[in-house]
Amino acid sequence: CGIVGYIGSQEASPILIEGLRTLEYRGYDSSGIAVFDHKLNMVKSKGRLINLEDKLKVEDLQGVLGIGHTRWATHGEPSDHNAHPHMNESGTIALVHNGIIENYISLKEELIEKGYRFISETDTEIAVQLIDLYYKEDNNLLEAVIAALHRIEGSFALAVVAEEEPDKIIATRKDSPLVLGIGDGENFIASDVPAILRHTRKVYFIEDYEIAVVTKDDIVIMDMDQKRIKREIFNVTWDI
Ligand code: GLU
Repeated sequence: CGIVGYIGSQEASPILIEGLRTLEYRGYDSSGIAVFDHKLNMVKSKGRLINLEDKLKVEDLQGVLGIGHTRWATHGEPSDHNAHPHMNESGTIALVHNGIIENYISLKEELIEKGYRFISETDTEIAVQLIDLYYKEDNNLLEAVIAALHRIEGSFALAVVAEEEPDKIIATRKDSPLVLGIGDGENFIASDVPAILRHTRKVYFIEDYEIAVVTKDDIVIMDMDQKRIKREIFNVTWDI
């Protein structure tokens, strides 16, 4: 159960994989990454990180924006299709999640009634479908994520990307850790500091229900009303 995200001008895949490797100690049963290159491309695999890397040797994911995940299954068996990221049906929004969405059954029923189809057994998939529902309303990823957060109960660290807004990653959390790494012309997201320490020692910690809009050159932290929050940069002085 770990999350990583990268936006900048380097190839995202190796940075995501390296980040996931430092999160291995948290335990996991599967992993996956989604990287943007004209569209969102995704590779995921049950088992060790090496299985994912083997797949990536065949299906190289290029691009400078991406999210990655190591999963510790809570809902749905460890399998390729239950591994994260999860996508909406059209494959235009991808999301990784740590935690448990407690009210996923009622949300799933509601979404099925609206015509949504699910391909995994995870609680997580409802989050991306819910974001899809709100995204269709006004094509704004930030607004869609916030609208979905108003509906979701439980614990989460989330990172979300959308094909139509390939300049940003939206990240948020509640009762699950998440740290933002500040780079130079690049920024990072991770479940904890060691995953990004190779790239930066400057980080922001975010609190429950704070939302970060992470672009290549900026990280904007806000509350659920989109009111900007001024956060001090934390300088990491220790080593891995
Ligand atoms: N509850 C989610 C799942 O089972 C996320 C688990 C995790 O934190 O890795 O897929």
